[in-house]
Parts: sequence; C-alpha cells; structure tokens
Amino acid sequence: LIELKDIVKQFKRGTEELTILRSVSLSVQKGEFIAIVGPSGSGKSTLMNTIGLLDMPTSGSYTLDGVVTEKLKDDQLAEVRNKKIGFIFQQFNLLPRLTAIENVELPMIYAGISKKERRARGMQMLEKLGMGARYDHRPSQLSGGQQQRVAIARALAIGPAILLADEPTGALDSSTGQEVLELMIELNETGNTIVLITHDLHIAENAKRVVTIRDGQIVSDKRNDLQREMIRQVTEVGV
Ligand code: ATP
Ligand code: MG
Repeated sequence: LIELKDIVKQFKRGTEELTILRSVSLSVQKGEFIAIVGPSGSGKSTLMNTIGLLDMPTSGSYTLDGVVTEKLKDDQLAEVRNKKIGFIFQQFNLLPRLTAIENVELPMIYAGISKKERRARGMQMLEKLGMGARYDHRPSQLSGGQQQRVAIARALAIGPAILLADEPTGALDSSTGQEVLELMIELNETGNTIVLITHDLHIAENAKRVVTIRDGQIVSDKRNDLQREMIRQVTEVGV
C-alpha cells in the first residue's frame, strides 16, 4: 500500500543544506497498524508529511496504493491526498464555526459526493464513533475526546486507504487518550490501515508494528502482534 524507497528530504537553512530524512525505505501492507516512533526532531513529522503527500521529498520514490506519486503535479497530488488519506492531528483541527456533521462532510465535498449522500454517510460515521447524538454541536461544545472522535469520523468519511495520525492522543488526558487508542485498534481490526506517529513508546505498543526513526533514519522495525495478543489475554483473564 505504501512503498517508500530511498526517501531523502533536505531543507535549506541559509546557505546550509540540512538533511532531515536520509534514505528512508519503508513498505506498509494493507491492514497494518504501524507506529512510527522517535525522539523530537528525528524526522517523524517530515516523514508523515511525505506519506500524507503534504510535502514532496528531495529524492526517492513513493508509491501509494499503486499511484507513483513523484511524477504528479500539485493538483493531482491534492486529488490523490483527498481520496486516499484520512488525517488525524494532535489538535483535532476541526473548523470551529462548523458543527460536528458539517466537519465530517467537508472532505466529502472535495470528493464530489452529493449533499444527501454526504449527510447520510456523515451521520453513519458519527454514529459509528458514538457521536450521533451530538451531530449539531460545534467543537467548542465538545470535550477533547469527543472532538477527536469527530475528527476520526471526518478522516474515515471518504473511505481512505490509510489513516494517518500524528500524536492523536497528545492533547488528551490519559484515560481519554486510551479510549481513542482503543478506537483505533478497533478500526484496524475492522480493516483500516493505520500509520500512527508518536514519541510515546507506551502508545506505540498498541500498534502491531513499531518502526523507530532516529536522525532521519530507520533504526529498527519490530512486530508487536504477539505482545498485544498476550496483553489482551492477560486483561481478559482479569489478572
Ligand atoms: P517532534 O517529536 O518534536 O514533533 P519530529 O520527529 O516530528 O519531532 P520533524 O518535525 O520531522 O521532527 O523535524 C525534524 C527536523 O527537521 C528538525 O530538526 C526540524 O527543525 C527540521 N525541519 C522540519 N521542517 C523543516 C522546514 N520546513 N524547514 C527547515 N527545517 C525543518
Ligand atoms: Mg513532529
């Protein structure tokens, strides 16, 4: 689904050329739940911007769901982004003047879906996330956890190939954060591919695969499935 090969990202600062991603290669299959972890400044958000087609790498190739992205023009990139990526951000990024349902409908407008269908699908998404009763609330009338649920409903609305989340629990207290994480696990179990970016190892443990990035390079790539299964069994037994 995601094929990154030899991705290099450089920024110019004055006369200096800073290399932020140094030949990153990464494949993510459909249905994976992968966490990308690393210290502050290691290049996580830069990598997320690449995966999310928000920024183009300096060199390297990126194929997303069969689309070779490096040859695309800006408007084509935006179209692929709108169709294939559902973004979830730390600060929710809901539009404050719009109600919950209007926020969820927004990406469907870009996708050219009719008003009637947008409303129906949007309500279905909000209900799926336990927010049906609050469809006409504005973000300021919702708690942080509720706002993030609306944001997740918005991300899911167009049926994206990937859910891309940058520190989705970073602005939430720990129990609300845990609820949002469990929601993401559930979404993965029902078939969604999730890429989760975090500096928090405890959060990363919820993913099936953990990739560590340091100084712009992948330094480890581990599967977590077994550990998660063990944790679940222990919890179910109620130890
Ligand atoms: P954090 O955990 O703090 O969010 P991060 O791993 O997401 O960190 P990035 O935001 O990817 O780190 O930044 C990696 C490095 O790239 C940092 O040193 C940052 O200063 C630099 N950087 C990021 N974006 C730019 C830019 N547009 N121009 C110049 N330098 C940049
Ligand atoms: Mg970051």
